[in-house]
Amino acid sequence: MARRRITIFGATGSIGQSTIDLIARAPQDYHVVALTGGRNIARLAADARALQADLAVTAFPELLEDLRTALAGSAVEAAAGPSALLEAADRPADWVMSAIIGAAGLAPGLAALRHGTTLALANKESLVTAGPLLLETARRHGARILPVDSEHSAVFQALTGEDHSAVERVILTASGGAFRDWPIERLAVATPQQAMTHPNWDMGQRITIDSASMFNKAMEVIETKECFGFPSDRIEVLIHPQSLVHALVGFADGALMSHLGAPDMRHAIGYALHYPARRDLPVARLDLATVGTLEFRAPEPARYPALELARVVMEAGGLSGAIFNAAKERALDGFISGQIGFQQMADVVAATLEACAGQGGLNNAAMTLENILEIDHLARQRAGGAMARLQA
Ligand code: NAD
Ligand code: MG
Repeated sequence: MARRRITIFGATGSIGQSTIDLIARAPQDYHVVALTGGRNIARLAADARALQADLAVTAFPELLEDLRTALAGSAVEAAAGPSALLEAADRPADWVMSAIIGAAGLAPGLAALRHGTTLALANKESLVTAGPLLLETARRHGARILPVDSEHSAVFQALTGEDHSAVERVILTASGGAFRDWPIERLAVATPQQAMTHPNWDMGQRITIDSASMFNKAMEVIETKECFGFPSDRIEVLIHPQSLVHALVGFADGALMSHLGAPDMRHAIGYALHYPARRDLPVARLDLATVGTLEFRAPEPARYPALELARVVMEAGGLSGAIFNAAKERALDGFISGQIGFQQMADVVAATLEACAGQGGLNNAAMTLENILEIDHLARQRAGGAMARLQA
């Protein structure tokens, strides 16, 4: 059997490393076309060597020499910068993992879809900023998008063989993040360090903070609407501290189909890797007798204002998702650098959505990559302005 050609965008990150972990267990099955990363050149070079990749790309042009040095004596080609990422996406592959963090993941994913490649999509920002464009590109080129976010993989699995028109509701679960049990008054003084300790999942730094603020879940609600086409009022969020039930799908007959599993992203990644087959995966098996209790409760709106902002975005439609995501990314930078407080992230995003809505109707402009990049840029500026006003 021919080896499957694999490319991993964001190979040095949390999802990228879990993907490599799965592939490295059966190297004879895969031909690694390209691995891409950012500043962690040592990791990128070591993995590219070990997996005998054709190409390694760092997103940052100034690191090209470092990458070349790290790959010296190997057969791996080195390249750098956004155009090199697109060239990596142009190399024929059978399966591409989209695991760059942030809006930077959109362009490479779109490029891969244009070749009809199967895209395993961890980069939720792609669906939030450009869901219709992504789906249309996949449709036109006969490409398949497989969700890798754990909740969306769970929904996808619960929907297998079902009639989508019989779906009454989709429930995404959320751990509630680091501050789930804090008194709300204390959130004003929460630090990035405190926000980075996730109760259940071991993830990248940015998404862990987004879990504490529930911006991550807000993004996932939008992602659900875009990925599966369910109306926004059928998508619910439930706090589930154990993170063992990843999502539930409710049908017209009242049945709820749920997906349970250990909080390990290698499940969703492995499912997308072997789809439609189910193969043995190195994830812990749940012992429900030991778990004993599964808890659920409704999220408090005052603690998680990001959830309401997701509703605003879904109602507005158009390029609002791109504004929302860009403002959120900028606000998160501001929180990490100490410019604004934890709760002010939602204030910044709300102010940016409002400011951009009045901006010559740009949020209603056609959904093209150019317009998305333009409004992304504008929203980051507006968010920067909103942060400066908060500090004043
Ligand atoms: P991470 O921060 O651990 O890794 C991000 C990767 O993207 C790294 O390889 C980094 O070098 C690369 N990168 C960063 N900035 C870049 C840029 N400007 N251009 C190109 N590459 C860049 O992130 P992660 O936690 O692995 O998350 C990756 C994606 O998967 C995100 O969209 C996230 O929302 C989603 N996701 C992650 C998890 C998780 O468990 N970590 C779960 C569900 C979904
Ligand atoms: Mg998720």
